[in-house]
Amino acid sequence: MDSDLNQAAAWLATSNKSIALTGAGVSTESGIPDFRSPDGLWSRYSPAEYATLGAFRRDPEKVWRMLAELEEVLMAEPNAGHVALAELEAEGALAGIITQNVDGLHQAAGSRTVVEFHGNGRTFSCLSCGASYTRSRVLAMGEMPPHCSNEVHGVPCGAILKPDVIFFDEQIPPKALAASSQLVRGAELILVIGTSCEVFPASEIPLQVRREGGRIVEINLEPADGLAPDISLPGWFTEVVPRLQERWRGLRA
Ligand code: ZN
Repeated sequence: MDSDLNQAAAWLATSNKSIALTGAGVSTESGIPDFRSPDGLWSRYSPAEYATLGAFRRDPEKVWRMLAELEEVLMAEPNAGHVALAELEAEGALAGIITQNVDGLHQAAGSRTVVEFHGNGRTFSCLSCGASYTRSRVLAMGEMPPHCSNEVHGVPCGAILKPDVIFFDEQIPPKALAASSQLVRGAELILVIGTSCEVFPASEIPLQVRREGGRIVEINLEPADGLAPDISLPGWFTEVVPRLQERWRGLRA
């Protein structure tokens, strides 16, 4: 582990472009349960019934019972791993992060280039009239579920708003796909953190980096099947990433 940590730090120091791909595992250490875990959100709310666009259009009030739990998730705070990644970016070691999380914790920690592959919970949209809302505006409305207050031809729209998280039957936002391709292009190193790389198409990202000759460093509690990293640094996000950062800083000094 120690020599692997040194090797990973050395690669980080010599790589011309490094990026990170993060998943649920980085947020569990901020107290957000993995939605896919045995007692997670999807064990209590079937995704087909509660997390599809079709379900939302049919019965948005019902879907909001699940979304109300998601709201609690958005009250979490970034952890030491999020902070280390944000600092690595500020110090020039990391070009950006592609995340599968919708909790905004990377941005809360100070990361600037964050591609949210599965959308985010900080903005809301009206599926009826297309109006968009910031989280603070929705919270100021003081109603759950929130209704669209936009006037269409002089009449309040009134449709129930949907957070801009990507439901199971939705496509990855084209902007996120484009931004992710741009980050992946020319990446010589990818840190794969807190993700089992099972959800397509995010699962393809490390493989794209490898196809273009880049290296994969995995930081997971349990190794991801089929990832075949160049180096695996097993352990907690909040411990391994700060240690990697420390070694990298040592090489720079
Ligand atoms: Zn509307």
